[in-house]
Amino acid sequence: MLGMPKIVDTHTHICDSSFDADRGEVLDRAADAGVAAVIAVGENMADARRNIELADKHPMIYPAAGLYPTILDLDQAEQMRSFIRSERLKLVAIGEVGLDFWVVKEEPQKGIQKEILKGFINLAKKLDLPLNIHSRSAGRHAVALLLECGPTRVQMHAFDGKASAALPAKATFGLRSDRKKLLVTGPNLFGSLELEIWILFVICYLVLGILIFKDAIIFRYAFRLF
Ligand SMILES: [Zn+2]
Repeated sequence: MLGMPKIVDTHTHICDSSFDADRGEVLDRAADAGVAAVIAVGENMADARRNIELADKHPMIYPAAGLYPTILDLDQAEQMRSFIRSERLKLVAIGEVGLDFWVVKEEPQKGIQKEILKGFINLAKKLDLPLNIHSRSAGRHAVALLLECGPTRVQMHAFDGKASAALPAKATFGLRSDRKKLLVTGPNLFGSLELEIWILFVICYLVLGILIFKDAIIFRYAFRLF
């Protein structure tokens, strides 16, 4: 499609069995809409193997492998790291991995989650792979761990922390989000994404305002009628 910007969807669960019936058509529709590639992230070993198989069949799919952050199993984490090492040449990223303190609330378990994530970060550095990081209710902790371990290629996924929690990482790696809470892009805090988000908010508030105002008029007339 000439002239159309190409999009890379960097976080898909295209290996999910819900796509088994029509995965090809889904990818075709994505391609028609301007998507050039999809990165298939994984939550466990089955996903990791499936992503590699799917990438052989579908040129649009680029496979990643990771362990979902709520899987607090050091053995599974080690197996996944060894799988990633052995399949390094086929993989484009490590993910998804990360911290999820919304689900994992106890301190000892949070510690295990951090230890597992640290292992994946160090592996990403060693193998020169980017990281796809899931971070939910753990913004400061995820950023602190990333800064401590020092990977340079990181994509935050599901980051719901405050912008102030992400700012320390701004100089090290770019963060980008469509969430209201995080308005940070790599080199420029007040870049075009922020403008887009603010324009969207203004439109939303205007539409809501009109709806509420309209309702108020309707109510006023309704009250007059009674
Ligand atoms: Zn995901």
